[in-house]
Order: sequence, then structure tokens, then C-alpha cells
Amino acid sequence: MDIAKNLQQVWAELPQGVRLVAVSKFHPAEAIREAYQAGQRIFGESKAQELQAKHEALPGDIEWHFIGHLQTNKVKYIAPYVTLIHSIDSPHLLAEVDRQAAKAGRTVDCLLQVHIAREETKFGFTPDECRQYLASGQWRQLEHVRLCGLMGMATNTDDMQQVQAEFQGLAALFHEVKAEWFPQAPWFKELSMGMSHDYHEAIAAGSTLVRVGSHIFGERNY
Ligand SMILES: *Cc1c(COP(=O)(O)O)cnc(C)c1O
Repeated sequence: MDIAKNLQQVWAELPQGVRLVAVSKFHPAEAIREAYQAGQRIFGESKAQELQAKHEALPGDIEWHFIGHLQTNKVKYIAPYVTLIHSIDSPHLLAEVDRQAAKAGRTVDCLLQVHIAREETKFGFTPDECRQYLASGQWRQLEHVRLCGLMGMATNTDDMQQVQAEFQGLAALFHEVKAEWFPQAPWFKELSMGMSHDYHEAIAAGSTLVRVGSHIFGERNY
């Protein structure tokens, strides 16, 4: 795998305002270092303890993003330094992030993960649960988290029209909830969607953060 070359290819495809999260889960610190030396600074991980170990081993100016299902009892491992949690999939988890962020004396940026795929197994709020949670106003009590947008994963299929429709649906929901609950909040601006096989469709639908792993680092062994 020529990590630097792969990165350059993806960077060249990103329109202004779209950032790359290089998904380094299950790849060793050495692979991250190689990407770092090529100039990549945002990395995404999906296991709290793996993220903690890499955070300790790697340069301090890396922006670490958490993208996987996060168990509430693991929040404490990442709250002191994580830059953005993409995968808030329940009110309970958001409340725990708030608690741990308060303990760490910081505010943590978070995205609500919305279930847009046909698969049953993906985590996240349904669009209606997302609307209901925002309408409940509960999140306004949380002083140590800041909601910055939405995240979603499309169905894992070769039917790119299906994928595009799902991304467009998430983008529409993003604009709806921004207008309703965050009209004066310039930080509510992130739409995290797109992986190795569908990031072009995601960008076309308005993604601001693409999460690309295997296309940069090669296949994962897990
Ligand atoms: C693993 C993962 C990715 C990256 O997937 P690739 O297909 O390797 O690009 C993106 N987002 C999430 C939530 C993931 O778990």
C-alpha cells in the first residue's frame, strides 16, 4: 500500500470545505505515522482503548475522531482528548459524554448518528427519533458537549442510486434540523457521510467529512 499516494489521490478529490477523516482502525501506529508524515492530521478510530493507545504513541497535534459504536463505560478513555465523536447513537451516551467531558474540564464536539441504511444492524437514531430528541430540548442541559451536525452510513450495496438517495435524505434532515434548532449556531455545520466505496456520492450530496479507511490503508484484518 502506498499510503502517501492514496492520500494525495483522495485530497485531490475533496472540494473546498470537505475534510478527510483517515480511518486507521485496526491498522498499526506505523501506518498512521506514514500518513501523518504525508500531511494527514485527522484520524478516525472505532475502539476506545485502541484510540487511547494510539493517542499516547503518536504526535500531539493529531485530531482524533471517534467513529464507531461507543459504549458508555468506555467514554472515559477518550473524553480528555477526542476532537469529535461522530457516533452518538443514544441520549444516554450523549449524557455520559457530557459527564466525562466535564470531569476532563472540556467541551466535546459531537454528531448525532442517524440510521439511514436498509440494514438492521447499524446503530443510530431514526430520523424521527433524531427530531424527537432535538425537540425534547434535553441536549440544552448538557454544558460540556456541543452538537455540531449529523453522521450516517449508507446501505452497503452496489446500487449507487440507493446510496445517493440515502445520502440526500440525510442531507435534507441536516438542513431541516439546522433551520429548526441551530439557526444561530455556526458550529452546527458537519455532515459526516461517505466511506471508501461511496465517498464520491456522499460529497455530491453535501458531505463535509468523509471517513475513508481501506482506500488509504488497505484492507483490514479483523
Ligand atoms: C470502518 C469505518 C469507516 C471506513 O470504512 P472503509 O470502507 O474502510 O473506508 C467509515 N465509517 C465508519 C463508521 C466505520 O466504522
